[in-house]
Amino acid sequence: MTDTLITGAAARPDAEIIEDTIVAPCAPWSAVLKKGQTLRLIDLEGQQAIDFLCFGTDPHQNQVERYHMPNTIKVPKHIFLEKGTVLYSQFARPMMTITDDSCGGHDTIFGCCSFAVDQVRYGKQNAECCQRNFEREMEKHGLGPEHVVANANFFMNVPIGSDGHVEITDSQSRAGDFVDLRAEMDVIAVLSNCPQELNAAAGGGPSPIRAIIFQ
Ligand SMILES: [Zn+2]
Repeated sequence: MTDTLITGAAARPDAEIIEDTIVAPCAPWSAVLKKGQTLRLIDLEGQQAIDFLCFGTDPHQNQVERYHMPNTIKVPKHIFLEKGTVLYSQFARPMMTITDDSCGGHDTIFGCCSFAVDQVRYGKQNAECCQRNFEREMEKHGLGPEHVVANANFFMNVPIGSDGHVEITDSQSRAGDFVDLRAEMDVIAVLSNCPQELNAAAGGGPSPIRAIIFQ
């Protein structure tokens, strides 16, 4: 990782920094954001998928409130995540808003990689998987494996053909591309820096990312 990547234009926002972390290749990460704080995710070397979920810190109607993929697609009638997209919960309440995005076209439908699905689609298993990363990281917040739901995939490119064909293809993200997510409620943000080496999700191989929380 070069200095350019760390100090590039997309690096540190001109704001009060709450946390600034380099997430190692293949590793999970999480943090609690207060309403109004923003999480910046930077693809330091390019073409690195970040599997992402968020949860309300407080239950709503006695349930864990969590990111809900169909509501996030239904409300804007748009299947990709980009600047202006709101991430909705199962209660159709705004959880986070994408306030800036230098890449665009992030995936909503493919969910995360798991040992089980890798075995079925490739006949072998990757060394690590996002499912297990999510489970490990969410356990720290008292969230069990049943809460690993269909997640968002930043910097992952899944074009949808008119014939219905879908497949992970090379990501459009370049070194230093970033996405900003503003918390619309107090949230637990959880991510897996995707370890996948059996498809294009992590480009030429898993690489580090950077997570900055600011307000
Ligand atoms: Zn993955």
